Amino acid sequence: MIKDNYTNIRQEIGDEATIIAVTKYHTVEETLEAYEAGVRDFGENRPEGFLEKRKALPADANVHFIGTLQSRKVKQIADDLYYLHSLDRESIAKKIEQYSNHTVKCFIQVNVSGEDSKHGLIPEEVPEFLETLSEYEKIEVIGLMTMAPHTEDRSLISEVFKRLSELKQKLAEDNRANIQIKELSMGMSNDYDIALQNGATFVRIGSKIMGSR
Ligand SMILES: *Cc1c(COP(=O)(O)O)cnc(C)c1O
Repeated sequence: MIKDNYTNIRQEIGDEATIIAVTKYHTVEETLEAYEAGVRDFGENRPEGFLEKRKALPADANVHFIGTLQSRKVKQIADDLYYLHSLDRESIAKKIEQYSNHTVKCFIQVNVSGEDSKHGLIPEEVPEFLETLSEYEKIEVIGLMTMAPHTEDRSLISEVFKRLSELKQKLAEDNRANIQIKELSMGMSNDYDIALQNGATFVRIGSKIMGSR
């Protein structure tokens, strides 16, 4: 089942984006099944699940931290944290700088829609945050991340993804020293097709690969 799901989506998407299988609601066994099916990028949103899956998976798998991360929990996962999709506060960067012995590829989480989520910076705050982050040696900002609003309105979702893409473009033109924003982490099971149309390079797919909980 997981194998079929993944194979179908991989075929549909091709190689244009990295598929992150979000395993947060799924067991180690199911996660290993996804690995066997060819998945090499996994997403978890809690330190416990992150560490559990990291430990179980072979070394060539990447486990991405995709959820809100409390700064006091950074220490727990610092050794294994290589991809963080939810950087939106300097306190997290400080803890990474303090506890990590390697650089961490980070996405700035942006709250494009200004709707429901309390997480993420508004687009106007991003340039200054990038300026702040340039002081941190362990932080390598590679992209922007957003969550679409909870809506059935696909044109609204498309608008949100488009705005993130435009923000990336604009920041690239600003041409900051040592910051190369190339990636867009956007799109989940219900909207990854819309995200890809708008330039997503990482999609985070849970239920459509792993099955619903
Ligand atoms: C759970 C989660 C996903 C995947 O959600 P699905 O709808 O199951 O695809 C993607 N991104 C984040 C940040 C999540 O927490």
